[in-house]
Amino acid sequence: MNEFRSTGRTAQWVIRELGLPAIVKACLSCRSARHRPTGKFRVNANGKLLDVWMLICCEHCGRTSKIPVHERIQVRVLDRERRLRFENNDPAMVRELAVDAALASRAGYQLDWSGTCKLETAMPAGELERADTALLKVTVSFELPVPIRVERLLTAGFGLSRPVVRGMVYSGRIRLPMAIDAQARADFTLFVFTTPPPSRDPAGPVHQLGRRARDGRLVRVPGGRRRLVLLRSRPCWTDRRRSARDRRHAGGGQET
Ligand SMILES: [Zn+2]
Repeated sequence: MNEFRSTGRTAQWVIRELGLPAIVKACLSCRSARHRPTGKFRVNANGKLLDVWMLICCEHCGRTSKIPVHERIQVRVLDRERRLRFENNDPAMVRELAVDAALASRAGYQLDWSGTCKLETAMPAGELERADTALLKVTVSFELPVPIRVERLLTAGFGLSRPVVRGMVYSGRIRLPMAIDAQARADFTLFVFTTPPPSRDPAGPVHQLGRRARDGRLVRVPGGRRRLVLLRSRPCWTDRRRSARDRRHAGGGQET
């Protein structure tokens, strides 16, 4: 990102926690499969070996089951502080394990994240449509590691349709540290080039949004509207050959 100037414009998006995910595994007493942590652990010492389970209960019938957290590990291997947290039913430890996808995978159950979060953005309306050369830096932070498809995050955060968001990513106006189809579950930062309102043609390359200037800056277009054009920043990732050709044309063309 060194090639871009930043004037400190930032926006903060937060994935707020509304609740913990349901633990999905078959209940032995009823047909429900949704469980919640009871808030308790069971620690069983057998000689030099330890077992630790997290207790969960069925949302429907209340039957208690247990999830193995540590199985037959050497007592000396388990950190004393961690063991105390299990023995004291530390709520922070319950929460940590209740959202732990690795534990879910290891213990053979799924996590149902529906209804566990909401996106909060403190971005003023029109933030994407400012006619200046600054980059907008958006930091996304997660209060819980809920997996969210990046495309869904962007459409919700910017209030734009899927085709428009995809067009902005493919044209390079939105720069992501991961693929747009990836699932994000931890903090990351993205960058947006602010320009006039997005093209109605979602697949349209960035340079169709305005006239080019030699220095890649603001240009007057017929009708007197100021538009931001990005020349130096390789405006269209998916169409480099075309961009190069246009650059040559722009070099010999007339500015208005
Ligand atoms: Zn049940």
